[in-house]
Amino acid sequence: MESPNQAQCPQWQRDLQQCLRDPAALAALRPGLSAADLEAVLRRFPASLTPHYASLIDPTDPADPIAAQCLPDPRELDAHPWLAEDPLAEETHQPVPGLIHRYPDRALLLVTTRCAVYCRHCTRKRLAGRPSLGTALEHLPAALDYLRQHPAIQEVLVSGGDPLLLPDEVLANLLRQLDSLPTLRWLRLATRVPVVLPSRLTPALCDLLASLGRPLYLNTQFNHPRELAPAALEGLVRLRRAGVILANQAVLLRGVNDSLPVLKDLMNGLLAAGVRPYYLFQADLVQGTEHLRSDPALGLTLMDRLSEELGGMALPRFAVDLQGARGKLTLWPHGKVELTATEAIIEAPDGRVFRYPRPR
Ligand SMILES: *Cc1c(COP(=O)(O)O)cnc(C)c1O
Repeated sequence: MESPNQAQCPQWQRDLQQCLRDPAALAALRPGLSAADLEAVLRRFPASLTPHYASLIDPTDPADPIAAQCLPDPRELDAHPWLAEDPLAEETHQPVPGLIHRYPDRALLLVTTRCAVYCRHCTRKRLAGRPSLGTALEHLPAALDYLRQHPAIQEVLVSGGDPLLLPDEVLANLLRQLDSLPTLRWLRLATRVPVVLPSRLTPALCDLLASLGRPLYLNTQFNHPRELAPAALEGLVRLRRAGVILANQAVLLRGVNDSLPVLKDLMNGLLAAGVRPYYLFQADLVQGTEHLRSDPALGLTLMDRLSEELGGMALPRFAVDLQGARGKLTLWPHGKVELTATEAIIEAPDGRVFRYPRPR
């Protein structure tokens, strides 16, 4: 029998309580990995696996594409001079703590440092799972004031950490306040919850999302077709019925999805699930992620091949986010990219040149 306390606690919160975090439980998911291998890396970068995401792993496969995204790897501790903790200089673009304003017409709010699963390739690995150092949620009046004073900002992208880990009441207050700002024309959520914690997509959450006046875009991150599991697909249906517009920002990851059949299945599978492929990102230059970085030259070849095999709806834009550019830089289609032995040299639309080191 369930205790009254358990009965009150929603399933998704119980799923979070049951996340795998300790080295022995994590090591059991990959052949040949021991708890001792993971202790040092876990001290630097936390790990957490929802029971749902862990259930997608084949623990007999040393190269499992789900495990590669979420199991800590001792190589995360290797230092590489071309990587940085904060390669996009997000910390220096925060007029209010947790509000990142890099592009004139859109701003990003970091509302939590918590995630259900700590992706090993995370772009905000410096923050993920850390005690909060000041999120926009903790400075909400100041963040809202900033948005009011900058009417050129027409979109707020609510990110983190994962914003859908906030409790319903907190999320409702945040989204309603944003929705009431006359300068904002639409809202965007950046969340991996549909992939890693679909039980969070409750009818109550969907009712909240459906109640907003602005169009709500939800960009998620499916990186492998196996992630389009039945529970995830059901969650996506609930979001669609709530009027949420779904798109996907995948990351090109070595050994996970940098092959034609995998990307083809992923993109078609997303469309079949009602999710429009939006970006395929070349990985950011983040410390601790080198072992997962694929080669932009391979990405370009894969995009050429995909364009022959996929319909236009299924084709994302292949892009990279580099400090100082006016937006994500397009690598494909129509990207101006020159490949040398060690770098991709990218010419932005304004003529400026950016350099992205290829993995060695
Ligand atoms: C990526 C990003 C956006 C959104 O860019 P889109 O190209 O519109 O998806 C907005 N703000 C920041 C700080 C970003 O890094």
